[in-house]
Amino acid sequence: MTRRLTGFQPTGHLHLGNLIGAMRPLVAAQDRPSIAMIADLHALTVEHDPQQLRANTLQVATVLLAAGVDPERTAIIANSQVPEHAELHYLLESATGYGEAARMIQFKEKSAGNKGVRLSLLTYPVLMAADILVHDIDQVPVGDDQNQHLELARTVATRFNARYGETFTVPEGIRPENAARIMDLSDPARKMSKSAPSAAGRIGLLDPPEVIRRTITRAVTDTVGVVRDDAGNQPGVTNLLAILRACADREPGPLTSYGALKREVTDAVEAVLGPIRARYAELSEDPGHVRKILADGRARVQPRAAETVRRARTALGLLD
Ligand code: ATP
Repeated sequence: MTRRLTGFQPTGHLHLGNLIGAMRPLVAAQDRPSIAMIADLHALTVEHDPQQLRANTLQVATVLLAAGVDPERTAIIANSQVPEHAELHYLLESATGYGEAARMIQFKEKSAGNKGVRLSLLTYPVLMAADILVHDIDQVPVGDDQNQHLELARTVATRFNARYGETFTVPEGIRPENAARIMDLSDPARKMSKSAPSAAGRIGLLDPPEVIRRTITRAVTDTVGVVRDDAGNQPGVTNLLAILRACADREPGPLTSYGALKREVTDAVEAVLGPIRARYAELSEDPGHVRKILADGRARVQPRAAETVRRARTALGLLD
């Protein structure tokens, strides 16, 4: 059966886009072997606060559970806690060109004008390749922003296999089922993102109801005044419609005003996030439980990861 891996960076507050674009597809596909990976090692590629990172990692794990990821079926891991990720990362560097890494759009964007660029930002996609290859993953649901990195993972795996002998499963990128891309409510040309400088257009998964209402009420629309699904001319309205469809699976009435549409969207979002918030509050009372789930996830995936690293070491000519 195909094996899937979905990754989340613990770089800030998870938002509605993460839920609709990644967590719900993950929950819907739990009949197949899946791994939900918190990429805490990737969070070290940019300026970070250690205490905040620890808190964010636990928060992502807790939100995954609150959103319905079932740890009995889906292994939830932090990539730092499975050392095979870091070991394979280094081994894969022997099959990756400097030019290939330096060409990545995300590296160019995040390093432009930044004097303190970390070496790990350059090798970020090689670590991502290791995250995937170490678990023999067949399918990786990816958004557009990670397409180029996934292609590099495929190239590196194929090259390694050709040069050193069949070692890795070459993963395929897939579009998550029913996963709309959610845009920023204050700037619908940009995707909703954890790391956006302003939180004004972001619906956090743990935002209280009044914050959700305020964020949606202030969402950018336009002066057309008529609700239409026309991303070219009405990107803000189209985004609200996408949220309504994703959260309540319905269309607004034909004469809906922008105000009425926003009220409908607010109710639909609250109906989805209210139960997640409540479950999160319950789970947060016992952080030991969440840590145990991560330890169980690690124990579950480690034998296969160790076996993959062993194959790679042998293929490269390293001693047992
Ligand atoms: P960052 O801003 O730190 O890059 P992010 O918000 O883009 O973070 P990631 O942790 O990189 O989130 O992505 C986690 C998952 O959520 C990925 O599968 C990604 O494709 C998906 N995702 C992220 N943003 C959106 C969005 N706005 N709409 C739909 N899916 C999204």
